[in-house]
Amino acid sequence: MPICSKCGFANAKTEMRCPECGSFYSKAVELIDQAAAEEAAQTFGGRCRRILVSGQIRQALLAEWQALSGRAKFSLFVIFVFVFALVASVL
Ligand SMILES: [Zn+2]
Repeated sequence: MPICSKCGFANAKTEMRCPECGSFYSKAVELIDQAAAEEAAQTFGGRCRRILVSGQIRQALLAEWQALSGRAKFSLFVIFVFVFALVASVL
């Protein structure tokens, strides 16, 4: 029977996660889950989902913007300028 290292809850079932506090029994499973969560957080879809789930879109967008690296901000700026130049040349 696995016993939770965090809260000490003994789980009768063969679950990977403690039903009491949600911490993992196996360090390997925890690492895999963390890696998957981090990968999901890095993708555009993951970011959008996080923004939508938060319910406070403005604050979430601001937080995402602050979390972006300087390079990411620069590439977003370049894209914005490129689109602007494209629109300006058409008009
Ligand atoms: Zn626990």
